Amino acid sequence: MAKKNTTTVHTCSFCGRDETQAQFLIPTMDGKGAICNFCIEQAYDITKEYFGVSSKNKGQQPAKTDFKLDLVSVPKPKEIVAYLDNYVIGQDTAKKYLAVAVYNHYKRLLQPHTNDDVEIEKSNIIMVGPTGTGKTLLAKTIARLLKVPFAIVDATVLTEAGYVGEDIESLLVRLLQACDYNVEEAQRGIVFIDEIDKIARKGDNPSITRDVSGEGVQQGLLKLLEGSVVNVPPNGGRKHPEQKMIAVDTKNILFICGGAFEGIERKIAQRLNTHVVGYGSNNTYRKLQRENLINYVTPQDLRSFGLIPEIIGRLPILTNLEPLDRNALRRILTEPKNAIVKQYVKLFEMDNVKLVFNDDALDLIVDKAIEYKLGARGLRSLTETIMIDAMYEEPSAESKEFTVTKEYAIEKLSKANFDAMK
Ligand code: ADP
Repeated sequence: MAKKNTTTVHTCSFCGRDETQAQFLIPTMDGKGAICNFCIEQAYDITKEYFGVSSKNKGQQPAKTDFKLDLVSVPKPKEIVAYLDNYVIGQDTAKKYLAVAVYNHYKRLLQPHTNDDVEIEKSNIIMVGPTGTGKTLLAKTIARLLKVPFAIVDATVLTEAGYVGEDIESLLVRLLQACDYNVEEAQRGIVFIDEIDKIARKGDNPSITRDVSGEGVQQGLLKLLEGSVVNVPPNGGRKHPEQKMIAVDTKNILFICGGAFEGIERKIAQRLNTHVVGYGSNNTYRKLQRENLINYVTPQDLRSFGLIPEIIGRLPILTNLEPLDRNALRRILTEPKNAIVKQYVKLFEMDNVKLVFNDDALDLIVDKAIEYKLGARGLRSLTETIMIDAMYEEPSAESKEFTVTKEYAIEKLSKANFDAMK
């Protein structure tokens, strides 16, 4: 047996970390060297790789999702759109763009490494559309189909390092969580950044001492979009000196951004008007454009809104969601697989009560959602207000059928003072 040496080494012989920098050091038998916990992990990875075994879940739970990829088994763009159609009404353009982007993302991950110098680069997406038109719903729905890890994060919580809020790197924590901290998988994942418009530069006179302008956050985000190795605090939150960071390379991560960009129509109108002047004053043309100006959004408008050109350049695919009209709202009530009306019918069914909504009652809900400017989100709260008494009474009632008439709906809404929302 080796004799124990009296002098113990206090630094790692591999990386040079001392006791304060590593969690623990294991000395060699002769006491002349030591290895720290970081180098042990690295050595473990190398060993696994050498034997061709996946080094994924280092002592942790196995990954929840199986992300094995091959182009035959991944859904084609048309199949993705067909799936989205089950849950999201309208928004055909955005669906198509998303489906193609996701499919191309798979292709890029699977591209053969040949010598032809052609490398398929990633194309991050930005979706612009009024609030409550289905941006998050699209993201959540597509997530169920994906063969790569997926995370939805909110840009509003982000601040530049040093300010109250979360560091940009925290965007990647969710992605890591989606694949049980399997870094390799996370590096092929997709991140949906919601409310990207909230980090747009506000005003032209930003203070130089504080990040009130949002530009610092944009600069930080740029690094992620461009592709760089980012140190992520595994549990999110601020970086903490004791916390062990996970290095994540964002080169292959696809970013999908969404935002309402409230008021962008004004920027679009300004731009279109200048064009129109060139053609002479064609009022009908101008009027037509005003109907659905969001359809004409260009990268230039995002810039006028306050996104820095570098960010826009890194989000080469720009698509938009349409405002939901009466017809779309009416369909949302009943058509999606998870439609609001279907949910109430199911609730009543569990009490053996057959629930029926009359068509004019549904029309009324849509009318009120439009009147109170509540959009699709309002459909649920309106229906809930109408149904609350019935949900209270029916489970103890004798009758096995309940019909929601227009008159009933009007009575319940007026009782709940919904008119006060006008
Ligand atoms: P946002 O565009 O602000 O992200 P959401 O996707 O969160 O809007 O939509 C809010 C809610 O409104 C959804 O949960 C869904 O119930 C409903 N909704 C919005 N747009 C649609 C749509 N196109 N089809 C079906 N439901 C929709």
